[in-house]
Amino acid sequence: MKVTVFGTGYVGLVQGAVLADVGHDVICVDVDAAKVAALQAGRIPIHEPGLEPLVQANQAAGRLRFTTDAAQGVAHGELIFLAVGTPPDEDGSADLQHVLAVARTIATHMTAPKTIVNKSTVPVGTADKVADTVRKVLETRGVALAFEVVSNPEFLKEGAAVADCKRPDRIVIGTRAPQAERQLRELYAPFNRNHDRIVMMDVRSAELTKYAANAMLATKISFINEMANLAEQLGADIEDVRRGLGSDPRIGYHFIYPGVGYGGSCFPKDVKALIHTAQSIGFTPDLLLAVESRNDAQRQLLARRIIAHYGGNLRGKTIAVWGLAFKPETDDMREAPSRYLLQSLWAAGAQVRAHDPAAMDEARRIFGERDDLVLCGSPTEALEGADALAIVTEWKIFRVPDFAQMAHALHDRMVFDGRNLYDPETITRFGLGYVSIGRAPVV
Ligand code: NAD
Repeated sequence: MKVTVFGTGYVGLVQGAVLADVGHDVICVDVDAAKVAALQAGRIPIHEPGLEPLVQANQAAGRLRFTTDAAQGVAHGELIFLAVGTPPDEDGSADLQHVLAVARTIATHMTAPKTIVNKSTVPVGTADKVADTVRKVLETRGVALAFEVVSNPEFLKEGAAVADCKRPDRIVIGTRAPQAERQLRELYAPFNRNHDRIVMMDVRSAELTKYAANAMLATKISFINEMANLAEQLGADIEDVRRGLGSDPRIGYHFIYPGVGYGGSCFPKDVKALIHTAQSIGFTPDLLLAVESRNDAQRQLLARRIIAHYGGNLRGKTIAVWGLAFKPETDDMREAPSRYLLQSLWAAGAQVRAHDPAAMDEARRIFGERDDLVLCGSPTEALEGADALAIVTEWKIFRVPDFAQMAHALHDRMVFDGRNLYDPETITRFGLGYVSIGRAPVV
């Protein structure tokens, strides 16, 4: 099928490449000319396992093209995907300016019927707004063309985006229009062979399903973090609690790891946006408000502990930081807990030596040149000349470090672990102090 995707970020680029890979003819449109030029040259602007060979192979086969030419994009696709960003507005609501800009673009250039498929995460009612926008522009042009707006939210996980798009757990399609349903079933048929993964519903339910899924996951994280704080004060060990809790199949082990709070481009903004939606109709989302406030506090926890350990002041101290990305296997630092940690460490007067296996370029872009930050090429290099280590992202490479060398390198022999990577008994045998989440500190 002929498909156009607007937006070549984590969602649009991966979805476009995966659709091309099963034989669809895909054009990806982006307003970022530098990004499009890089993609045309086969360079992938984001870190996502398996994405580069997938894009290059499908480009070479002529099934995946990149352009800034919106008119060409609109003319091409019978299905037009919206995969542009929906960042939080000042009041926490989802900013729909990019979504509605693409709606206007489509309506300006379309000369044949189109099915507009929204993959961006958008509040309930957005499909109606997109339809109104398209209708108004068509009226101004004085043309009558059929179109449909479908909600097809994306559930991929950054760091596993290609695998998730190739083998989705479910494909949620929100439409009551038979022709649009037929088109989407045909599009996704190659991903739907083993059993039926398609969940059909009305458009508003599909829009809400995406927010409900992210809010549920954020709730699990805030829940375990609350238990971790309780465990610490009650003399319990959250890692034992977690294992005992997760063994109940009704609860499961997923998403109950205690840590430094959720981050990334989705959970914080989507929880905020859902709270905003609820409040805008006079509904008080007590649970979501608590999830968010627990997370705000959790993001400050590691910095507060480090600062408290040093008596309230980090002047003259150098802290090594392992992990900058908001989670492993990505270079994405949007709303990453590391950013909150670094700001607090700097505010308390610390120098920082940081390493991340994938996010170094992103860190350079975000922080620029600073006297109080050294970006290091390896975890070991980050430890050189540092007083203490803070761990923020649970990359595999941090899991089995050389503790003897760590103890030798760190002046104050202190490790503040925001991800509970180590067994306290093992690490403290090397003479290291160890402060983690929801377990008794050993100093
Ligand atoms: P992103 O910021 O990585 O990419 C968005 C892209 O859209 C950018 O390249 C931008 O230049 C482009 N763009 C903006 N306006 C445009 C326009 N008018 N025409 C063409 N391109 C335009 O965003 P993302 O992370 O891919 O997320 C996109 C949407 O998908 C968001 O609503 C997000 O909430 C949702 N989502 C994201 C994830 C994720 O893990 N990143 C997962 C599921 C859903």
